[in-house]
Amino acid sequence: MKSLLLLDMMFSMQKNLTKIHQEIQKWYKVHGRVDLPWRTTDNTYHIYISEVMLQQTQVQTVLKRYYSPFLKKFPTLQALSKASLDEVLKMWEGLGYYNRAKNLHMTANILTDKAQAQNISPSLPSEIDELIQLPGIGKNTAHALAALAFKKPLPVMEANVKRIISRLYKLKTPTDKTLWKTAYDIVDKSNPFYYNQAMMDIGAMLCTPKNPQCEICPLNSICQGKVNPTLYPTKKKRTVAARKQNIMLYLYKDKLSLTRRTDKFLHGLWGFKEIGVPLSASKYIGEITHTYTHFKLHCKVYLYHERTAAQKHYFTTQEIEKLAISKVDEKIVKLYLDTIINI
Ligand code: SF4
Repeated sequence: MKSLLLLDMMFSMQKNLTKIHQEIQKWYKVHGRVDLPWRTTDNTYHIYISEVMLQQTQVQTVLKRYYSPFLKKFPTLQALSKASLDEVLKMWEGLGYYNRAKNLHMTANILTDKAQAQNISPSLPSEIDELIQLPGIGKNTAHALAALAFKKPLPVMEANVKRIISRLYKLKTPTDKTLWKTAYDIVDKSNPFYYNQAMMDIGAMLCTPKNPQCEICPLNSICQGKVNPTLYPTKKKRTVAARKQNIMLYLYKDKLSLTRRTDKFLHGLWGFKEIGVPLSASKYIGEITHTYTHFKLHCKVYLYHERTAAQKHYFTTQEIEKLAISKVDEKIVKLYLDTIINI
């Protein structure tokens, strides 16, 4: 008797889900962002580039300034592998989280070398187990690529989807394990591509953090959190820490010294030197600030005229424009230019 009841419950849950999947698809066809270029292509490399760019960046920024120029410059995995890291970083300039560009470049090299050894064209693997072995591809990106580029019956997990799942099941502080399990339980295995794109759009357009529009949401009939949706998930209080730096501009014959960064943060970019205590003969020229996701940086900038070329590399400001540098260093160059104009 018990097992019959359980079977009955499972059957009715499945029936509900099938109906919801239909509602989601219907909504997506009318309201979804179906024209995004990475949704209208089957090119797995293009989808891969969009996924990596979108990891920490808003759709509009990727769309307007980065996606097309990057693909124009590096249209294939092979073209990306042939480029120098400098060229890749230059195309990534301003997008931040530069490790993403470095990992893309490494992945292109790994896949191209592998393909050459087998005398075939390089391509991305379609299975999660293989995708996850590649630099910069974690669980979320591997699922996104498998589901969106290779149409596998798997869920995509990102901030919008996490918020929807938390609200659907009134989860205030869900663990990753719970979120993934739920995502697997409710994914539309027949149409994972449309389902996943729709879930991301519903999160971005309807189930927003502050003003969810439950009355027109296709998930309304199964949503347990719709009475007070903003309670789910509980917001984490984030305090933005302040960091201070002293930056020394070494100037020799109208050229500034920059070195290539080797630390994990901003790895591979060119940058000005951070110092503990400014040289006594240096001149303070001002302060710039820059807000990162987790901290706000305050840089005091000093200028030091060198009599001999004591550093390794010097560049004119025109030459610096062609280097891949961070937003902070761009601000420092601007401060320097404003300073010499006013001297
Ligand atoms: S009904 Fe409301 S809370 Fe539930 S998923 Fe839709 S928009 Fe979000």
